[in-house]
Amino acid sequence: MKNFYIETFGCQMNAHDSEKVIGTLVSEGYSKVDTPEAADLVLYNTCSIRDKAEQKVFHRLQQFKRDAGKGKTFAVLGCVAQQEGERIFEKAPHVSMVVGSASYTRLPELLVQLEAGNRRVTGLSLDTEDTFETPLTRRDNPYRAYITIIEGCDKSCAYCVVPFTRGPERSRTSESVLAETRNLAAAGYTEIQLLGQNVNSYHDPSPAGFTFAQLLNAVGQVSGIRRVRFTTSHPRDFTKDIIDAIDRNPNLCNHVHLPVQSGSSSVLQRMQRLYTRDEYMRRIEWMKAANRNIAITTDVIVGFCGETEADFEQTLQLLDEVQYDSVFSFKYSKRPNTPALSLDDHLPEEEKSRRLTILQEKQRGIQIARNSELVGTVQEVNVEGFNKATGQWIGRTSHNRTLNFSHPAGDATNLSGGYLEARVTRAGPNSLVGESVLM
Ligand code: SAM
Ligand code: SF4
Repeated sequence: MKNFYIETFGCQMNAHDSEKVIGTLVSEGYSKVDTPEAADLVLYNTCSIRDKAEQKVFHRLQQFKRDAGKGKTFAVLGCVAQQEGERIFEKAPHVSMVVGSASYTRLPELLVQLEAGNRRVTGLSLDTEDTFETPLTRRDNPYRAYITIIEGCDKSCAYCVVPFTRGPERSRTSESVLAETRNLAAAGYTEIQLLGQNVNSYHDPSPAGFTFAQLLNAVGQVSGIRRVRFTTSHPRDFTKDIIDAIDRNPNLCNHVHLPVQSGSSSVLQRMQRLYTRDEYMRRIEWMKAANRNIAITTDVIVGFCGETEADFEQTLQLLDEVQYDSVFSFKYSKRPNTPALSLDDHLPEEEKSRRLTILQEKQRGIQIARNSELVGTVQEVNVEGFNKATGQWIGRTSHNRTLNFSHPAGDATNLSGGYLEARVTRAGPNSLVGESVLM
């Protein structure tokens, strides 16, 4: 059982967890293969934030129920593992290992149990002080690295499974985060993305006592680091010193992802979001008053229980007011164990879909207008790769926009990982087109 295949669903936290799992497996003598067919051990790192996400893993497992799965060992990791626990063995009897993210430090021991012929093993305790640190993390991208600074969540938004699947909040020490940043800079990484369900709820557990803004600034001062991003911020814990840090330190990217969920204070209250529309808007005003132009993005849930047409209108008005650079929007999805299950007035699916379409169309118009404002400007991009089909390089701006650009054909240099300036010539709703200033 020495070849493994891993498929990751869901957010950046999961993507980064998989990098840690891969590192751990490789150090245990396993080698990674690119297809489940070629693997002895097949792992799915799962997401259960919405029902659709949860169903994906069961579809995948279904494909291997009979002959196709013979001789293979199946493992379910992550949020569905934590949420469903041993019930997964009933739903998919060919699964042998079920492990939640708070128990990944136990992976080597659980693998030994499997190799010893144990038919079913689990790691489901949330009762851990550990943050999953491993020097073995395998990062695929050689320039941009994720660093987890805080795990779990102590909030209890009425719709959300995260507090159940990822356990209580626990922060890493600032020394540990800074040591990892220095190691990554020494290995050639120039961009760091700090991760946490609520990254700005960070509390340094060491005597240094860094606030989130202080940590952000310190990471941005590590020699060799040119860009620092962070996600996701919770509005309740979003303090003005974060904006001051971005204003002072150009290595901190001028982009903040601040999920609002709804523009109606009464919906926010039912969601147990711990802020009102006005309190949220105060944070937006801080960003708009900053010296640097800060891109603002958000998450919205439409059709939460009891959301009236007037509540929904308030969300649409909020989009007009804020002029977000991008919005991730979702239909409310009922999740197990969550407080919202006991609320009245669940909306019909068709009504949620109708609202989602209206919201997405509105936001598309806003994005076309916002991106068009950038035509003619010069932006610094970090080059992520080359698109053979279009003959363009793919760059990312500090604002977190994709800028596809042409570069002099005679220049055969591999630009990937580098930073250069490109002039924006065209704008679409989701990306920009341009040319390198050397054209
Ligand atoms: N901690 C972040 C915050 O408080 O904003 C959000 C993390 S959550 C993993 C990512 C997004 O998924 C949320 O912002 C929310 O919009 C969406 N989401 C969470 N639960 C949901 C549900 N039950 N139905 C629909 N969308 C949901
Ligand atoms: Fe979920 Fe709310 Fe925690 Fe975000 S803050 S992870 S939405 S419970």
